[in-house]
Amino acid sequence: MQLTNLTRANEIGANSYLLDFGDDGRVVLDAGMHPRQEGLAGLPNLDRVPVDSVDAIFVSHAHHDHIGALPILQREQPGARVFMSEATSFLSEPLLHNSVEIMKKQRMERGVLEYPLFTHKELDVQARTWQCCGTNRAWSLKGYPDPDDDEPLRFTFHDAGHILGSVGIELEHRGRRIFYTGDVNFQPQTLMKGADFPRERIDTLMIETTRGAHQPPEGYSRHEEVNRLLQAIQETFDRGGAVLIPVFALGKTQELLALLHFLQKARRLPPNPIYIGGLGRTFSSVYDKLAGRSHRSHSNLSLLGHIAPQVMDGKLARQIKVKKGHIYLISSGMMTERTLSNIFAQNFLPNPNHAIFFVGYCDPESPAGRLRAAGQGGNVVLTPEVGEQPVRCRVEYFDMTAHAQREDLLGYIKAVNPRVCVLVHGDPPALEWFKAELADTGIKVVLPPPGEAIVV
Ligand SMILES: [Zn+2]
Ligand SMILES: [Zn+2]
Repeated sequence: MQLTNLTRANEIGANSYLLDFGDDGRVVLDAGMHPRQEGLAGLPNLDRVPVDSVDAIFVSHAHHDHIGALPILQREQPGARVFMSEATSFLSEPLLHNSVEIMKKQRMERGVLEYPLFTHKELDVQARTWQCCGTNRAWSLKGYPDPDDDEPLRFTFHDAGHILGSVGIELEHRGRRIFYTGDVNFQPQTLMKGADFPRERIDTLMIETTRGAHQPPEGYSRHEEVNRLLQAIQETFDRGGAVLIPVFALGKTQELLALLHFLQKARRLPPNPIYIGGLGRTFSSVYDKLAGRSHRSHSNLSLLGHIAPQVMDGKLARQIKVKKGHIYLISSGMMTERTLSNIFAQNFLPNPNHAIFFVGYCDPESPAGRLRAAGQGGNVVLTPEVGEQPVRCRVEYFDMTAHAQREDLLGYIKAVNPRVCVLVHGDPPALEWFKAELADTGIKVVLPPPGEAIVV
């Protein structure tokens, strides 16, 4: 098998990998957009994939860094079948339509002339061709379930426990097993159950390493982080303040909504309405719609029905008054300029009674990363329009990650004991940590060089 890393650097960035099995087939795993690059620079290296040469495209889950470039790849590969889970297809349509709107706005505001990279109309036509496949069942590359054993290339999806619909993708090629984890979490979150990955031997394992440079503090547990968060919210409310939690609209919004709902039900938090953004509402409706047939707990909890969050109108973000004793779960998680969480934070920064809490990964160079680094009492530039300003509100980080801890990933690698372990989706210190940990195991560790075909 030949593997080409289509991303432009060995970093967390985005995901896209070409696997070439010669006459037996050519497939692409994920087609992500780089979260920080603009315009064509954010795309994977698609010029490494000749036009109309791919048989299948697989999407592990509906996060932008895994699916954002799918419409462009699909346009260049009209003969490729596109496979994903049912939930991923439900989530991807609103996600990509929203991307079109963001790109149109950026073209106007920042003069990025190549935007939008695709249109609503194009997306509508493409989405009709996506094929949804259930988990734990083998499929042929032509999209038929339960193919014969002599089919040269088959695939199986396995629940990855990261967000709704996230899967790891197993390919079986003439008796050899290749497994791409996508983003994975082995521990249960409030809604998502932990990953249900194969435990038998794998020949080539391609594994995400997002958390590879992160050593959890002594005694870390999700349960303890929840207690810490709860206490910090209570202290804020006692001061007469409100809490802003910048979150990703997909995944974190729904997890936090459910978590806060259960804390309210247990009377550990006052039963005030929780605020979310419009896109968060859209994705929550998919969580509700598929509750009964997806890899999640509390399948009878309707996020929009039982919790009934208030939906904030993005256009009114500058006028909305912060109410004390309320929690705002607003995207974007990295507080990207001009997003609701960035604009709305102006109401929180000057007031020492209020708090801004982070619950997930943020790029250190993003506005959220800068605010975390500045902390209470520091200075930060959240947006150039306002310039540097003092941080008077409380700022805190709680580790409620949707990614596996590095020890869990390492444990999984050792359990399936691959001949080759390909490390992807991690920054250089993370990759180095895994390389060092695997040094004496006999497992061949590969950091796939961007843009180069290598034989695995
Ligand atoms: Zn993800
Ligand atoms: Zn990712």
